[in-house]
Amino acid sequence: MRKHPTFADQVLAWFDQHGRKDLPWQHDTSPYRVWVSEIMLQQTQVRTVIPYYQRFMQRFPDVQALAEAPIDEVLHLWTGLGYYARARNLHRAAQQVCTEHGGVFPRSLEALQGLPGIGRSTAGAILGIAFGEWAAILDGNVKRVLARYHAVAGWPGDTAVHRQLWAFAEKHTPQARVADYTQAMMDLGATLCTRSRPRCTECPLQAGCSALAQGRQADFPGKKPRKALPVRSTVFLVLRDTQGHVLLQQRPPSGIWGGLWCFPELPSLQVAPDWCLEQLGHAARSLESGAAFRHTFSHYHLDIQPLYAQLDAQPEAIMDAGDRLWYNVQQPPEIGLAAPVARLLASL
Ligand code: SF4
Repeated sequence: MRKHPTFADQVLAWFDQHGRKDLPWQHDTSPYRVWVSEIMLQQTQVRTVIPYYQRFMQRFPDVQALAEAPIDEVLHLWTGLGYYARARNLHRAAQQVCTEHGGVFPRSLEALQGLPGIGRSTAGAILGIAFGEWAAILDGNVKRVLARYHAVAGWPGDTAVHRQLWAFAEKHTPQARVADYTQAMMDLGATLCTRSRPRCTECPLQAGCSALAQGRQADFPGKKPRKALPVRSTVFLVLRDTQGHVLLQQRPPSGIWGGLWCFPELPSLQVAPDWCLEQLGHAARSLESGAAFRHTFSHYHLDIQPLYAQLDAQPEAIMDAGDRLWYNVQQPPEIGLAAPVARLLASL
């Protein structure tokens, strides 16, 4: 009876036919060259990396050359790639390889992970691709493929989800052709199982892919959970004078709604009568609270309670007194209004 092809068989068959095999780091897969490519490819696309990689290799052809270079030169060759901690770590790790390992890359997961900037996945890629040793990888591309194939719910940054993905990564990594399999998985994630609009009809894994079967490719991997935003509350005093004009105050130039015009804000409904007496010299009447609503900023929710009120006499001296004005709803002046203020004014 013919054996059913495994996950790895399918990936390798696809790689043999369609995988990229002429990327600069695929020629001469020394640990140094694989390492530099892996670091550059973190958070950066292949197309962008290629010219940087070539310039880097020309200037620093081996780990000794990199270790001996001034950091300024390393950073200069990195300029434009971003995430500069990667370059600093690369430089430090090269020095460590020279001083602690005699200029030869160590051949174990533990020792590789002891070098700055090398995590478990990068160490696995170096072992697999450069040394042909069995080791799993779980970079961003592979996470996406495995999360979709197995419909692994949850954010991969979560420890339990991360562990589950590593278990799948190890389960599928074959004993034979580990270097090709490692390249193939990175390639498949980068070219077919892309973040948006994966090309499932061309994918060698389509028959067994749970996300495809459920039509839920966009749900995997799960998104980072949003942090619950703190909630603050305030009272907007919507105070009208005897002519129906509404009191607005200009906010300080910096901070929330900087320089925009707002209703006076009060800490509670109860303080409104005293506030009117103290600030305007007149009592407020017909106090009536309106429907509360929420306005959300990037870092907190603001629950706004409007309080409608009427001054019992026309105030004298505060018309256009610098940071305060009486807003004529019928003939509105051209001033900047905070969004919820504009909404409330429009509803008057
Ligand atoms: S079938 Fe689609 S979602 Fe599933 S692994 Fe392939 S490309 Fe990704």
